[in-house]
Amino acid sequence: MHHWLIPVWQPLLQGVRERRLGHALLIKGMAGLGKRELAGKLATALLCQHTNNAPCGMCHACELTAAGSHSDLHVVGREGRSIGIDAIRELGRIMSESARLGHGKVAIIERAELMTEAAANALLKTLEEPAGQATLILVSSQPERLLPTLTSRCQQWLVPLPDTHSALSWLNEQGVTATPAALSVNQGSPLQTLEYLQAGADDKRLTLLGELVSLGEAPAGLPQVQARLLEQPVHLVWVQLLLQDALQTALAVNAPLKLDDCREQSVRLARLGPIALHELGSELLELRRRLQPGQGRPMNAGLQLGQWLRRLQQALTHS
Ligand SMILES: [Zn+2]
Repeated sequence: MHHWLIPVWQPLLQGVRERRLGHALLIKGMAGLGKRELAGKLATALLCQHTNNAPCGMCHACELTAAGSHSDLHVVGREGRSIGIDAIRELGRIMSESARLGHGKVAIIERAELMTEAAANALLKTLEEPAGQATLILVSSQPERLLPTLTSRCQQWLVPLPDTHSALSWLNEQGVTATPAALSVNQGSPLQTLEYLQAGADDKRLTLLGELVSLGEAPAGLPQVQARLLEQPVHLVWVQLLLQDALQTALAVNAPLKLDDCREQSVRLARLGPIALHELGSELLELRRRLQPGQGRPMNAGLQLGQWLRRLQQALTHS
């Protein structure tokens, strides 16, 4: 188990062993922390036949959960873009049946924020009925998108972000060379950072930001920068962090930079001055909001990004 999960896992486990966990739980926290793994482990402990020593790892129930074939464990929401009412109705039906192995039933709803409104209301109804020996575990990285009437019925467990130092040492143990900047662009999530580093995205970030800041001297590079950003709008967050660092540099704020490996680029951008940087930053934030996945891409997104880049390029040329 990832070390940052242990402070949440231990009280959960104690709750299982002392039989005082609620019937509905919400495991929440940022994406990329291993909440799903935690929920799976909790389900194993709940279904284990040796409650006082759960999860024993040796009983029939533990063997079945390990093999992914325990008939009293039902998982919803692993795939697809939303969780519809049919899936929740089926879950309600399964939960109301008696346990095959006689040790309670467990349902996990992963990415619970993807429930449609109808699905969430159906789930609410399921929760209102006496649950018997069934436990429902909701997992969400965006709990604010869940119905408040739903979350208020759940015992809530927050998985906190590990501190930078321990996240970096865990990453180095995984055989990647992680920097605080790589962790920053992944909002501090170690699992996301690992995936990012393994995909070679850190080099892409350094190249892209380098090209972006050179636009003043090499305006011909603009279409290429634009194409890369349009292809992966999520990378606009790199640009946003660099602008924030540049603003901090322009204002001579004495605080560590988010992208400390792009110090040179921050200093170059800082020459634009705090007002221009602030404006570029707000425009970029708006652009990012419009380009977010799931928002439906506006027809003129490419045009707007192009205009923004040209403004940046002109500002760079004249500073
Ligand atoms: Zn067991």
